[in-house]
Amino acid sequence: MTAASIDGRAAAAALRERLAHVADFFHASTGRQAGLATVLVGEDPASGVYVRAKGKATREAGMQSFSHQLPADTREGDLLDLVAKLNADDHVDGILVQLPLPAQIDSARVIDAIAPDKDVDGFHVVNTGRLAVGAEALVPCTPLGCVHLLTQQLGDLSGLEAVVIGRSNIVGKPMAMLLLGESCTVTIAHSRTRDLPAVVRRADIVVAAVGRPEMVRGDWIKPGATVIDVGINRVPANDGKTRLVGDVAFDEVARVAGAITPVPGGVGPMTIAMLLRNTLVAAHRRAGLNLPEGL
Ligand code: NAD
Repeated sequence: MTAASIDGRAAAAALRERLAHVADFFHASTGRQAGLATVLVGEDPASGVYVRAKGKATREAGMQSFSHQLPADTREGDLLDLVAKLNADDHVDGILVQLPLPAQIDSARVIDAIAPDKDVDGFHVVNTGRLAVGAEALVPCTPLGCVHLLTQQLGDLSGLEAVVIGRSNIVGKPMAMLLLGESCTVTIAHSRTRDLPAVVRRADIVVAAVGRPEMVRGDWIKPGATVIDVGINRVPANDGKTRLVGDVAFDEVARVAGAITPVPGGVGPMTIAMLLRNTLVAAHRRAGLNLPEGL
């Protein structure tokens, strides 16, 4: 391996420590803790693990966590009523409705119902639009975490060729917008892209957000490129159990790249750290306080 391994766990731990100080300062300034409400509908085990991890991280950072669990057969109207209550609750600065939602509920309608200034996932069209025009927005956590790792690794990204593989609203598109904001030359590749390896070979920065195990191969990578692997895929392991791999064939790519994020331990930990960050950003804006430097 020649590439540096980008340690997302360490970066996230450092950020969370800083955020805990900001949360204390917010508490001291306003007399209340910043608050994040999570909403989980149904019993999906992976979603349950994510939501509990988010609640725990929120409390550890010195913020209040309000967790709401609804049964799998919840009607859309009841979920919208809960969102309306949380929108009106002054103790709640951020609202996170864990996706995916059960089939009887229209996710887009629920996301649209969240007050944009509490939309800490950054999925509301108002925040999507603000990000696109370069205005003050709440930005999706995973791409925000990727940019944090990239700037920490490379410093100024201006002028670099970036290829984002994947065009989802949650990762690919906001990732591309953020890289454009950093003055990269950005290409968004997707399932219909012709000759994906040739497109990726141009890139100084590759962000893979596809959901296909180890799709990006070593001979797709320009020597020295920085590779951010967003993918989380569970595959069978030799011992009959399962293991997590990314969208990038790590060992092959690490022989060519300059730096690469591992899976697990790369982008994943940054996502929760950025959720805490977004909650504090929302809390400061709602309280009319200036954001602390570097937040
Ligand atoms: P998605 O399924 O919504 O989007 C996948 C994208 O990949 C699509 O835009 C599609 O066009 C593209 N794609 C599919 N096949 C392709 C191919 N053969 N060649 C090129 N592009 C192709 O997925 P998503 O929500 O954006 O998530 C992507 C991955 O990131 C998943 O593995 C997901 O689990 C992971 N993820 C990780 C985190 C984290 O915190 N680390 C957060 C969100 C998503």
